[in-house]
Amino acid sequence: RAKRSSQRRAFYEAAMEGSARAHLRLESDLHHALEHSELVLHYQPEMEAASGRMVAVEALVRWQHPSHGLIGPDTFIPLAEEVGLIGPIGAWVLDSACAQLKAWRDAGHSLRVAVNFSADQLQDRDITDRVAAALERFGLQADDLVVEITESVWLDPESAAIDNLHHLKRLGVRLAIDDFGTGYASLSYLKHLPVDILKIDRSFVTDLAEVGVDAAIVRGIVSLAHKLDLEVIVEGVETQTQCALVRDMGCDVVQGYLLGRTLSPTAFSDAYFSEASCEGST
Ligand code: C2E
Ligand code: CA
Ligand code: CA
Ligand code: CA
Repeated sequence: RAKRSSQRRAFYEAAMEGSARAHLRLESDLHHALEHSELVLHYQPEMEAASGRMVAVEALVRWQHPSHGLIGPDTFIPLAEEVGLIGPIGAWVLDSACAQLKAWRDAGHSLRVAVNFSADQLQDRDITDRVAAALERFGLQADDLVVEITESVWLDPESAAIDNLHHLKRLGVRLAIDDFGTGYASLSYLKHLPVDILKIDRSFVTDLAEVGVDAAIVRGIVSLAHKLDLEVIVEGVETQTQCALVRDMGCDVVQGYLLGRTLSPTAFSDAYFSEASCEGST
């Protein structure tokens, strides 16, 4: 079994390097993962900077592999895109995030949920119908859902993706540009996409100080965003100092290990919605 497991790991590594045989293997493993419910969503809280109140959760997918343990999305999402499995994975993510939000809603917690979409998913002609169906199935409003698209992908202005984003917007779904500031497309995206939220990439936060390039960039993004009536979320906030700085710079929502790590639904409920606490909940 150990041998098989290390062989499989080698296959994933080979798949990364472009081996066709390894791709096939990964494809069948991912099919298996989907069919046998090996994918799980973990959740990370997003807090309003001014009040500390939780306003949203981001759903982040993991693969609970029977022999390798928890595999992160950076390992299998790019491969899923390559082997054409991002469609079904994305559909699963959307459904389970909506189901989870519905459960938390029913328990009295008012939140929105953010889901990451890959560029390929946005090429799907039926994506708006799929999203509408998921919302309807779980009795959610369109503005309960935030779709995050990463800025590092260049969306061809001629592609279906742009149309789909407009359709989603018309449905009432909110659109966030993820990793804002890292791609080539930042400003052009603002011009062409119906954006509601900018998520400032954590690379601008890591070494953030009151003065310096990062501070100028964060202040600049906030000012631009607010002029355009967009909300600003800062990701990767790990320290109190960073948190205070980005709040003072006008960021609306903060997310990061300081505010909360990514947790399984059960652990998340225990950490944030548990009534049975000796200290009493806040
Ligand atoms: P992302 O959307 O930028 O998600 C943020 C990543 O940063 C997450 O990693 C999160 O766990 C991590 N993170 C959060 N707070 C902190 C912090 O304070 N410090 C540091 N150093 N890291 C922090 P994760 O879960 O491994 O996800 C990696 C990427 O995989 C995501 O980046 C997203 O682009 C992609 N991804 C995740 N779930 C999905 C999904 O369902 N569909 C698609 N298409 N992509 C997904
Ligand atoms: Ca994201
Ligand atoms: Ca991000
Ligand atoms: Ca990222």
